[in-house]
Amino acid sequence: MTDRYAVIGNPVAHSKSPWIHAEFARSTRQDIEYLRIEAPHDGFARTVGEFRSANGRGANVTLPFKEAAYRYCDEVSPEGRLAGAVNTLAFAPTGTRGENTDGSGLLRDLTVNLGFSMRGRVILVLGAGGAARGLLGPLAGAGATRIVIANRTVAKAQALAQRFSGSSVEACGFDALAGRDFELVINATSAAMDHDAPRIPTSVFRKGALAYELVYGRDTPFLALARRCGAATADGTGMLVEQAADSFFLWRGIRPHTAPVIAALRAG
Ligand code: NAP
Repeated sequence: MTDRYAVIGNPVAHSKSPWIHAEFARSTRQDIEYLRIEAPHDGFARTVGEFRSANGRGANVTLPFKEAAYRYCDEVSPEGRLAGAVNTLAFAPTGTRGENTDGSGLLRDLTVNLGFSMRGRVILVLGAGGAARGLLGPLAGAGATRIVIANRTVAKAQALAQRFSGSSVEACGFDALAGRDFELVINATSAAMDHDAPRIPTSVFRKGALAYELVYGRDTPFLALARRCGAATADGTGMLVEQAADSFFLWRGIRPHTAPVIAALRAG
């Protein structure tokens, strides 16, 4: 029977994961089936159980279930534990292993695809939700000198920074960014969903800075602001494909070439 994988979320109709994994399977000659499953808000564990019984070998997990997926696991990777959330499940007879590939996917897009070296950098992360939580461990481990987390609700940024106590991670609100500048500004808020941008001072973009928007596939108010401030920009298409490739590798032991998939998604 063909091994089955799925993306589980709610809503999930918009997800590009089935297409991306079908491309990966084709290019690596893996015989897999990849489904799209919408779980009820109160039925994540039940939905996963049914999928496992139907030859499910692994799953990607998207909003709003990444924390529920973390709790579902028997074993979680260090990145997943730091984030308190996982986006990848691998099922085995002995139990379920959870991974968080959002951070590794972003890091690979930044360093490999965009040629942005992290060592010695001063980085601003906007947002303190699930996505930001997944990014911080890999970013902090990649050699950045300082990471500032700024969030609309400051207490959430502070709680997140405390997970990295003793390291170079600090937290603040958007107003406290006045007079500071950064080489990399990552928008990990969902403000674009409301056609909005975080209310940050324009001075945060140091000359030559890179502005990275996690939302993919469209121009956003944050990207427009960054361009007006002279920053180079990138959207989250590369991260989306790289985190998927990391999941695929965990399941199948082979990492697909991502460049053609990123190019095809960008071409629409
Ligand atoms: P989340 O847990 O709901 O967190 C949302 C965050 O955005 C919070 O920090 C929230 O601040 C902030 N926020 C929302 N509206 C805002 C506004 N108008 N101004 C300023 N801040 C605002 O969401 P998430 O899971 O972290 O996801 C964030 C975004 O990343 C989503 O758009 C998602 O699609 C994207 N994402 C992309 C990828 C990829 O592969 N490219 C992967 C994961 C996520 P408060 O705490 O003050 O509410």
